[in-house]
Amino acid sequence: MIGGNKKVMSPNGLDAKTFFEGQGGITYNDFILLPGHIDFALDAITLETNLTRNIKIKRPLVSSPMDTVTESKMAISMALLGGIGIIHYNNTIDEQVKEVRRVKRFENGFITDPVVLSPNHTIRDVDALKEAYGFSGIPITEDGTLNSKLVGIVTKRDIDFEEDRTKLVREVMTTQLITAPAGISLSEGNKILKESKKGKLPLVDKQGRLVSLMSRTDLLKNEDFPFSSKNKDKQLLVGAALSTREEDKERLAELVKAGVDVIVIDSSQGDSTFQINTIKYIKKTYPHLEVMGGNVVTAKQCKSLIDAGADALRIGMGSGSICITQDTLSVGRAQGSAIYHTAKFSKEYANIPVMADGGIAHIGHIVKALSLGASTVMMGGLLAGTSESPGEYFYEGGVRVKKYRGMASHEAMEKGGGKRYLAVEDRIKVAQGVTGTVVDKGSVVHLVQYLMQSLLHSLQELGCKSIQELHKGIYEGTLRFEMRSPSAQAEGTVHSLYSFKEPHLGLLRGR
Ligand code: GDP
Ligand code: 5GP
Repeated sequence: MIGGNKKVMSPNGLDAKTFFEGQGGITYNDFILLPGHIDFALDAITLETNLTRNIKIKRPLVSSPMDTVTESKMAISMALLGGIGIIHYNNTIDEQVKEVRRVKRFENGFITDPVVLSPNHTIRDVDALKEAYGFSGIPITEDGTLNSKLVGIVTKRDIDFEEDRTKLVREVMTTQLITAPAGISLSEGNKILKESKKGKLPLVDKQGRLVSLMSRTDLLKNEDFPFSSKNKDKQLLVGAALSTREEDKERLAELVKAGVDVIVIDSSQGDSTFQINTIKYIKKTYPHLEVMGGNVVTAKQCKSLIDAGADALRIGMGSGSICITQDTLSVGRAQGSAIYHTAKFSKEYANIPVMADGGIAHIGHIVKALSLGASTVMMGGLLAGTSESPGEYFYEGGVRVKKYRGMASHEAMEKGGGKRYLAVEDRIKVAQGVTGTVVDKGSVVHLVQYLMQSLLHSLQELGCKSIQELHKGIYEGTLRFEMRSPSAQAEGTVHSLYSFKEPHLGLLRGR
């Protein structure tokens, strides 16, 4: 833990209270943390943390409920990696529920919602699936749906030399099948796949109905995820965004049926009667469902939502990379000060965790958010542009990019995103966000592993073995802060070089 003779304030930095309570809006780039004493190795550090009052996760990372960031693919990867994803609500109830179900059904290594056809489909239908999804190993069930009796499988080898593409699948499918019982472990499934030398292994229940599928091409990809976030039934954890509108009570009921673990009330200014009533309604109707309230940036706002029953709070107003709220409405708060003040209040008042949301522009900001009292960190832009984020890649000026847009951008509001900003019925919509692009960052799996390794190193430099120890340092005054002048900031990043290569695309100095 960082030492410090309290009588000697300088040159040993300032404690958090003196630093944050003595001056106005401070944010990540304005300060630096002073190093502590290292007497342990990296593997002695734990990153376990509270997402909400009752949900613990092993990695402090959360993906934002934005329509260019989190649908099931992102949420599955985040949960496998030890964090959690929050499914956005810029969609119909059915669409959001479907995404939640996909995460809950996911089993590592098993395709739990395989594309299926019936014997009466044609080879042309298989071609269309190959065109749309890129694979052609299609299980065939009696009525062409999952959970119906498995009657065959069509693979490339069944159809590649067939000239008549109108031929029915029943005439070409393979019916001598090697299957395995649903419920087997990943390693048992992998063993059968290897021994059978087949490309696909359908898993069936006792009645012979198709439950899931394993693919030989995934054998090498079936990584072990030791930190994955799961409930007691071994399902991955997932959250969903909800608005405070009356009609979202129906959405909520369906999300609960689908097994959602945490509801994140998605409002840009959380301290409203609408939100207080929504939290009270959720806690009364579904007492075991965890609710994260927000967004808030002051202690007073926190008190309103904690009194209503919130199990966690989401902190940030105007700090997001796509956000123009502070410019347009002149309301908000510098993110560093917002986290420090809300985290301190929430801990003292009710021991409720807070999540730092928005403005994590690069890797070093994660430890800074935690060092101000946040228990978790929510990211939009940093996770956008990965292969798991919704949307297609395209080229802009020769660079491979994906779209990333604010939920209060004109474009997203047209699709319904204005719910977060009480803007749905506004005749003239004032955008509080923009539409932009971010560079291709590859898979979120590698990105998150890189971010977490970096966080371990940060904690080691600070002499802290856990996020809880880091928090103790904030409130006991042993964690020391120092202001960074503009020239200190310039000195603290790459300078004086003619050119250089970034170690990891865009993550050193923002996008
Ligand atoms: P195929 O032999 O043409 O089916 O294609 P491959 O086996 O080479 O690749 C299929 C890839 O798509 C694997 O990584 C699967 O996990 C993945 N995949 C995802 N969903 C499905 C699905 O519904 N059916 C199949 N066949 N593969 C899927
Ligand atoms: P980022 O991680 O990109 O810096 O910020 C993501 C966060 O910005 C989201 O989690 C959300 O809180 C906030 N946000 C998303 N869309 C908008 C928007 O259009 N306007 C504003 N003001 N904030 C947004």
